[in-house]
Amino acid sequence: RDAALGGRSEALRARMEERLQGARFRYINQQLYTSSSREAAELFRSDPEAFDIYHRGFARQVAQWPLNPVDSIIRYLRQRSPSLVVADLGCGDCKIARSIRNKVHCFDLVPLSPQVTVCDMAKVPLAAESVDIAVFCLALMGINLQEILEEANRLLKNGGTLLVAEVASRFEDVRAFVRAMGQLGFKSVSKDLSSPFFFLLEFSKTEAARPGPAPALRLRPCLYKRR
Ligand code: SAH
Repeated sequence: RDAALGGRSEALRARMEERLQGARFRYINQQLYTSSSREAAELFRSDPEAFDIYHRGFARQVAQWPLNPVDSIIRYLRQRSPSLVVADLGCGDCKIARSIRNKVHCFDLVPLSPQVTVCDMAKVPLAAESVDIAVFCLALMGINLQEILEEANRLLKNGGTLLVAEVASRFEDVRAFVRAMGQLGFKSVSKDLSSPFFFLLEFSKTEAARPGPAPALRLRPCLYKRR
């Protein structure tokens, strides 16, 4: 009888622990979507455990989706030349680098793998016009979105490709968003809006980013509900 009781309290403890982790994940996630990329970097620097919790929670979310956008991006990249140089901004566990033959520069705030260069994506330690394809897969989290996309423009060669995969509900108005990208030197090449979960946007860099505010360049935060 005691053993049964022990088992039950163990199960209860595990359930409480899971709830707590879930709450911490949602809190950290919300912070990431409502602060600048610099503040996000500071959050993970000051609390390395926060990153583990965030990533475990993120992986649990992704496992529930019928389709992981990173797989669509990998499929796209495999159709292009393996000689093209790729930058994966907010790379997470580097699935892209592990899945294609191209040279892939991986950047994130904290290294989940030794391939990662730790930096804020708003300030990437790569030379200007050094990459052919820049990728943001579910990674446009900071509210300094314009600065982050200007940095991607700096990294890209003229004619280079920018790929953005984002949760569909983050867009208030995709057309307005795409139009605002024009000011940042990006021309829309293709849009895959067919999934109710994710939009996949492909741009080409046509020129350097033009200065000045781009008010239509907005994304809603992606907040997860408690389940
Ligand atoms: N692209 C990966 C991971 C997505 S999760 C995938 O699709 O599986 C979002 C990632 O962006 C996280 O790993 C987070 O740490 C990273 N990230 C968020 N803000 C960042 C910033 N300012 N600079 C670098 N990485 C950032």
